[in-house]
Amino acid sequence: MKEIVLAKDIIKIYGYKSKGKALDGVSLTVYEGDYICIMGPSGSGKSTLLNVLSTIDMPTKGVVEIDKVNILKINEFDLGRFRYERLGFIFQEFNLIDSLTIRENIGVPLALADKAESEINKKVENMAEKLSISEILDKFPVECSGGESQRAAAARALITEPKMIVADEPTGNLDTKNSHELLKLLKELNEKEGITIIMVTHDSMIASYAKKLLFLRDGKIDETIERGDLTQKEFFYKIVEITSKESQNLFESIIK
Ligand code: ADP
Repeated sequence: MKEIVLAKDIIKIYGYKSKGKALDGVSLTVYEGDYICIMGPSGSGKSTLLNVLSTIDMPTKGVVEIDKVNILKINEFDLGRFRYERLGFIFQEFNLIDSLTIRENIGVPLALADKAESEINKKVENMAEKLSISEILDKFPVECSGGESQRAAAARALITEPKMIVADEPTGNLDTKNSHELLKLLKELNEKEGITIIMVTHDSMIASYAKKLLFLRDGKIDETIERGDLTQKEFFYKIVEITSKESQNLFESIIK
């Protein structure tokens, strides 16, 4: 298996005045084709880890390599290009630009890379067809539903054909039906096209779509579970066991 991200002994401390470590010695290898979900209590370092693994934030100590490139040694300009070429981001907020149509929004990463308009149009239309949003291409974000907007955001993330998708609570603003539509799409991209996915969620049902679960506690990886041969349902129950144990511990520590 080819590794895509290697993180070694990551420590993240925010600012000089911060008392605790947001990440406290995290080491992790992500292989091509992995579908990893990061769970853990609020404040355990999930978003920080996702950001550090995807060039959005830098660790205070430790090493992060993506495709064997040490991202701590790249300058800001090259890092922007590196990020744009290799990674696709999907966040809870769709982050679409209100004054642009969906077609223009999806094409933004290609326009930023100075691609020709005809090439952009062709790629946007192909991607829109794949994500079943062809009919909304000439609408503005305000005219679209949450599900349509998140599909558009996913199309924008995928338009540069990234090797890895990084998603932070991507279904946070979606209803159940649209959440599962998006998760089915991500699963398909992972299984059929081998796109690597790393996702943060607090929801066991959403995590059950992944192949591997990392459970963080106090900035450390506390547990790792591989789905292996388990069905999605069996994996879901295993995840629920961990999260409910966590809730019980939290209850015991607060309400004595
Ligand atoms: P999670 O995603 O699990 O809720 P985060 O990664 O957001 O956790 O946060 C981990 C810890 O780092 C928390 O204690 C949080 O308060 C702190 N933290 C996160 N972002 C910042 C920031 N920009 N500045 C200072 N502290 C931060």
